[in-house]
Amino acid sequence: KSPINRELTLSLQLVPFGVGKKLLVARDITDLERVDAMRRDFIANVSHELRTPLTVVGGFVETLADAPDLPPGESRRYFDLMLDHTRRMQHLLDDLLTLSRLESTDDTLKDEPVNVAELAHALKSEAESLSHGRHRVSLQLDSSAWLKGSLQEIRSALGNLVSNAVRYTPDGGEITLTWRERDGEGIFSVTDSGEGIAAEHIPRLTERFYRVDRSRSRETGGTGLGLAIVKHVLTRHGARLDIQSIPGKGSTFSVVFPAQRLMTAPPSATVIPF
Ligand code: ADP
Repeated sequence: KSPINRELTLSLQLVPFGVGKKLLVARDITDLERVDAMRRDFIANVSHELRTPLTVVGGFVETLADAPDLPPGESRRYFDLMLDHTRRMQHLLDDLLTLSRLESTDDTLKDEPVNVAELAHALKSEAESLSHGRHRVSLQLDSSAWLKGSLQEIRSALGNLVSNAVRYTPDGGEITLTWRERDGEGIFSVTDSGEGIAAEHIPRLTERFYRVDRSRSRETGGTGLGLAIVKHVLTRHGARLDIQSIPGKGSTFSVVFPAQRLMTAPPSATVIPF
């Protein structure tokens, strides 16, 4: 047991040491084992996620090959289902590539100016387009500000929160996007009146492939990687994710940007001397 009473995995080895003596070398391989177990879990999860849609597509291809004279309506339905599952695999591969790009250490972070008001309006339009009029979407901007960071990454992280709010809120629900500044920090929140999340799940939501309800997530086109991507992007920006939720009432996912990422004035135009 270590000083903090944690279970350790040790590798023990006897090595020759001087004349007629042996030295017992103990190596702490706890972290190596843990990383290895995580890697194995990850591969098992990815394989499982790909196997289901591949099996479905394979099955329909066989059916269509064996019965070329199916009525057009029925074959159309099979093609639509195959397209659906193919898109699911594409979505999963896109998310996996995004995660792996974010994890590669040599990928340095951009430091470009991000106009919060513009971004917030774009995210509102995104919510409306994903909702197809099934939800009321509103936007509250308390102040105008600029952020420093990667526009593409910040947009994709906040876009993930918006897409989750739409996907986990029943028709007729409300989605509110807000931007406010408190104690020098900038907070972008996405609030929904959806199904909410029980407290015990909240600490694990940003783990890869962690879902409260697997079938609900898949039904709505989820890959289980969205919040893992959000977490990576926020860590790279020194920001944090705060999740408040009441089951049956709704959730608020807030991204808190630190003061160092905020600019109150728009970046000044570049003056080219002549
Ligand atoms: P998924 O693709 O499954 O949505 P995410 O990583 O984006 O994957 O989210 C992980 C899980 O967190 C989801 O499966 C869902 O159970 C839960 N979740 C995320 N956002 C919300 C929300 N706005 N309301 C309720 N549950 C949510």
